[in-house]
Amino acid sequence: MNKRARVLLLNAAIGPLDYRIDAEHDVQPGSIVLAPLGPRQLAGVVWEAERMPSDAEVGDNRLRPLAGVYDLPPLGAPLRRLIEWTADYYLAPPAAVLRMALASASALDGGRTITEYRATGHVPDRLTPQRAQALERVEGRQGLVRELATIADVSDGVIRGLVKAGAIEPVEVRVDDPFPIPDPDHARPALSEAQAEAAARLTNAVEAHKFAPIVLDGVTGSGKTEVYFEAVAEALRCGRQTLVLLPEIALTEPFLKRFAERFGCAPVAWHSDLRQSQRRRAWRAIASGEALVTVGARSALFLPYRDLGLIIVDEAHETSFKQEDGVMYHARDVAVMRGHFEGVPVVLASATQAIETRQQVALGRYEEVRLPARFGGAALPDIAAIDLTQDRPDRGRWLAPSLVTALTETLERGEQSLLFLNRRGYAPLTLCRHCGHRFQCPNCTAWMVEHRLTARLACHHCGHVMPPPRACPECKEEDALVACGPGVERIADEVALLFPDARTAIVTSDTLWSPAKAAEFVNRMDGGEIDIVVGTQLVTKGYHFPNLTLVGVVDADLGLSGGDLRAAERSFQQIAQVAGRAGRGAKPGRVLVQTHEPAAPVIEALVSGDAESFYAAETEARRMAGAPPFGRFAAIIVSSESGEEAAATAKAIGRAAPRVEGMQVYGPAPAPLAMLRGRHRQRLLVHASRALDVQDVIREWLGPLEWRRSVRVTVDVDPYSFL
Ligand SMILES: [Zn+2]
Ligand SMILES: [Zn+2]
Repeated sequence: MNKRARVLLLNAAIGPLDYRIDAEHDVQPGSIVLAPLGPRQLAGVVWEAERMPSDAEVGDNRLRPLAGVYDLPPLGAPLRRLIEWTADYYLAPPAAVLRMALASASALDGGRTITEYRATGHVPDRLTPQRAQALERVEGRQGLVRELATIADVSDGVIRGLVKAGAIEPVEVRVDDPFPIPDPDHARPALSEAQAEAAARLTNAVEAHKFAPIVLDGVTGSGKTEVYFEAVAEALRCGRQTLVLLPEIALTEPFLKRFAERFGCAPVAWHSDLRQSQRRRAWRAIASGEALVTVGARSALFLPYRDLGLIIVDEAHETSFKQEDGVMYHARDVAVMRGHFEGVPVVLASATQAIETRQQVALGRYEEVRLPARFGGAALPDIAAIDLTQDRPDRGRWLAPSLVTALTETLERGEQSLLFLNRRGYAPLTLCRHCGHRFQCPNCTAWMVEHRLTARLACHHCGHVMPPPRACPECKEEDALVACGPGVERIADEVALLFPDARTAIVTSDTLWSPAKAAEFVNRMDGGEIDIVVGTQLVTKGYHFPNLTLVGVVDADLGLSGGDLRAAERSFQQIAQVAGRAGRGAKPGRVLVQTHEPAAPVIEALVSGDAESFYAAETEARRMAGAPPFGRFAAIIVSSESGEEAAATAKAIGRAAPRVEGMQVYGPAPAPLAMLRGRHRQRLLVHASRALDVQDVIREWLGPLEWRRSVRVTVDVDPYSFL
């Protein structure tokens, strides 16, 4: 009998450790255990010793015994392989990946009740501004004292005071209440012939219960969701679990509604906005196999599904699937790996598949299932460019006369319009008219963005905020500050001036910050209470508004200015997605794209509808440059509060770079975001051929190097951000 257990503890700073297994404990690889570490006890998972080397070998006589074994199903071998693969590929500590699998520490303990709090509607006699703010914001919400305090942006003490005053009351929540079971036959849709064919391919793959990466490709409005819902239904009939990954939390609510209409109840949701009790209940139901369909953000990928049968990645082209801190993984790639280890089909659904995905199809590694037309005979919208050098907006305005005319016509017909600008706030830059002073964030290489709705200047990188000062801090001149360039708030102002009677809504992460807010927006759109929406990329996400017939892209050149390798592709995807919001019902849609460069390949491809030749040209350019998917990048980012220290460390790393065939190292150089959250940043970029095991090279390169504790070195494998 095995007396020793290697345990991967939930602490990224220490490697796996060995423990003694006493007779009373029954453990196997994957068992979730409690182990002593110094004076404390820590959760961890038992691992195959040969797969997880330990650098702290301890003799049998000195082993400490395990403190306990949780009464939970062990993590399955496929998930353990996924954790190893992710740690290896993204050069992350295995414990940091394991933490995502055991994402709810409180869920490890057995079922019990949790006391949450909610507003009673009673207003206390003594109403301080803080209390008033708290009551306003927690209305209709429920949660722990700490959770309510966070929502209300007040201290725990304010919430407790309100509990004492009777304005907030405790509620007992049973955290192990079962979830409703989705019914695959609740409301079976009438599919078109093309949809039925695609659905049959997916359901066959689910039935076969084997690894199969399938790309579900279809124009916006072609009914991809209805098609993959049939695969979900098949998994339900087989009694297996499904995971649906969505890129944005704001998308969840409209999705949940559609899901409930099809299957008769909501799926289990998993995202960062969950309360602790919800998180715990979801985790336990996923681990027990009771949660049959989970819809979640990328972190749902690592949860311990007991019997997974299907993975779907919706809007698979979305760059927000890339995690930019902690373990820097790409959820689309990890989803395919999970499917591989679990032996289940993975469906990547999108109208604008990523070039990386298209390449896998071209190589025959992924199967492609196409939906050619829009569902129900709805036509694709008519896309035209507005040449801003000819059709100029008035001074200080941003909407060209022909776009204004189109908005007027749409309003007169009682239909809805959407103006798209991927920039939050009122203006991206504020400067002093008198001396030219520009407002920069004290912590970052970034301008402070003016937000008029909240009357403040904000840094979009670190969250630093300040009230807009009356006088210029440089020359002390009063009322000399001018806003430069537009954000969505400024466009909304222009709309209000042009159409004083139109009902408008601004949709950004500032206004749609919770699923409830997103649901409210959808209801108002569906109810015809909004005429003109002004929004960022948040409105390009999966919404379906039949009465929305006009889309205006305010600045199509914006996305191209950043200039990283995916800029053109991303612009194309974004504009194609936002264009896809127009004319999804019986009425035809129209899209007007404002640009200074109507001859740019991106714009020409959008106007002509010839996506294939655009993709072909982009793919060829990547091939010539040896860029992904034909070559690989890895970024090494060195940061420190001291600029000299960051530069010196980066230089030392650069000097130690090995000479390896098929690999080139660029830099170090100050990052474009040279300062972020008060830390100076230097970057090195590794460019390697596909054949090279670049992770191995980097491990051997950085492994022996040492740097001060005040320096942080992170490696971003397959980076999406080049800032
Ligand atoms: Zn000034
Ligand atoms: Zn900042």
